[in-house]
Amino acid sequence: MDIMGALEKIVGPKRVTNRPAICQSYKYNCFLGKDWEMKPDMVVLAETPEEVSDIVKAANEYGVPVTPKGAMGGGGLGGTFRGGILLDLSLMERIVSIDVDRLKAVAEAGCSFYKLSQELFKRGLMLPTPAYDNGPNVAASAITPANGFGKTKYGPNIDLVEGFEVVLPSGEIIRVGAMAYADTDFGPFYRYITGPDLVGLFTKSNGAFGIVTKIAYQCLLLPKHWSFHSYYWPFEQLPDVTKTLMEATNIETFDIHFNDKYRWDWEGPFDIPGDGYFDVTLIVNGYNEKEMKGREESVRDICRANRGTYLPDLAKHLYLSWPAIFFAAHPRVKPPVPPNVFTETLGERGYMYILDELMFPTSWLTEVYTKTIELCEEHKLAQLPKHPVFDGYPMRRQVISSQYWVFINDGKPEWVERFHRTRDDFREWFGKRGGVFQSKFPPIVPDFTWTNQSGAFELLRSIKKALDPNNILSPGTFELGGGK
Ligand SMILES: Cc1cc2nc3c(=O)[nH]c(=O)nc-3n(C[C@H](O)[C@H](O)[C@H](O)COP(=O)(O)OP(=O)(O)OC[C@H]3O[C@@H](n4cnc5c(N)ncnc54)[C@H](O)[C@@H]3O)c2cc1C
Repeated sequence: MDIMGALEKIVGPKRVTNRPAICQSYKYNCFLGKDWEMKPDMVVLAETPEEVSDIVKAANEYGVPVTPKGAMGGGGLGGTFRGGILLDLSLMERIVSIDVDRLKAVAEAGCSFYKLSQELFKRGLMLPTPAYDNGPNVAASAITPANGFGKTKYGPNIDLVEGFEVVLPSGEIIRVGAMAYADTDFGPFYRYITGPDLVGLFTKSNGAFGIVTKIAYQCLLLPKHWSFHSYYWPFEQLPDVTKTLMEATNIETFDIHFNDKYRWDWEGPFDIPGDGYFDVTLIVNGYNEKEMKGREESVRDICRANRGTYLPDLAKHLYLSWPAIFFAAHPRVKPPVPPNVFTETLGERGYMYILDELMFPTSWLTEVYTKTIELCEEHKLAQLPKHPVFDGYPMRRQVISSQYWVFINDGKPEWVERFHRTRDDFREWFGKRGGVFQSKFPPIVPDFTWTNQSGAFELLRSIKKALDPNNILSPGTFELGGGK
């Protein structure tokens, strides 16, 4: 029997295929460009942890790599780096339990935040998530990791993970963190059980240490009172904006979003003021009105002290009238989550390529932004038909994650070349300062993300060797590659 025969025996003939058209359709390489092929040799859909376990055992026997797939296929190494089996977990989408008293939710890996959030809202709970519409699933977002609305107060998604059920590279099914206690009377109640934090071993692991089949999340009580605010600043006041972001983060504002995109890309029902170069939107909430009002006042004081100008229409438009993705709690929205929203098509062949998704201290925003713009000018990205835009997501602990989106027609080599030159120059500058990337691994991003932390890197490689001697799960994860 070959590997296809073995897989068919595990999941039946309908959930495994090596048909080229289907494998091709899983060849996702979001944001990376056409030259980066990540085509699986076969695609398998699993329905249970036991099936996942048997698939991994078969893969070991036949020496075939296995890469689990999240919702979109853009995180981590972004796909089947060494070919082999693409394990699609989208059929494993059950919500296992929601415990209102302990604020815990357990779901299968492929469950979407959309589905889980709907059930949480009904019970007066919520999770800060990347999106409340179709898309990110609960496990891949912890592996990648994602940061969504609420990241300023609560941090990236992985900060709320309480436990995992994992299929190890050997095929053994184990439970870590709160999930280790899932079958006891207390149930899953706390991530930090006896011994070191093994949940952290799997978060940000790219799936190389194990395949998550269930995940336990720490939920939040859904605040009843919400308000949405926006301010703008002219170009030369970037240091004031940076200070605003830092100060507003320190007082636990629920969510802050910084960008220059409305300068370049705005089709709203009102005009953005001519000197409005940077925009910051802020979401505050409270379990009672007094608490929310207090937070509103604090945010207003910070923005005004740093010379921001109030632009209430922007927040109102983005969060309350435009069909945006964040409506989680607003009482006017019933049902709380709108159907999926499709943005305008861009007309000309092309796509918004992400220059990089960065993580750096919020206090460095002025320098990072200035360098980005300088290189964008130097390599003439600013002269493309659609101007690139910057998005920044301040998070607690004074860390900011940012993305620079560049619209390029990838059928035009000179545009792609300009994009790559800008990215390479920026990466060199960024790496020297200790920069890291939100979710990508070398060789998709430069080796400095490993070599800047060489002791930790060697430890990770030793763990990988011990857990996965055949290098079956997501191979390539702990390798140096020179950047692509
Ligand atoms: C509509 C939409 C909105 C989004 N908004 C945001 C946002 O606001 N902020 C943000 O940060 N991100 C956002 N994202 C991206 C989001 O972070 C990712 O979709 C999510 O984190 C999962 O990654 P992926 O879908 O790219 O999956 P993949 O790239 O397939 O998975 C990520 C990595 O984890 C591995 N993996 C997947 N599943 C498992 C598993 N069960 N066990 C072990 N390893 C696994 C994969 O092999 C891969 O290496 C959004 C995505 C969508 C579709």
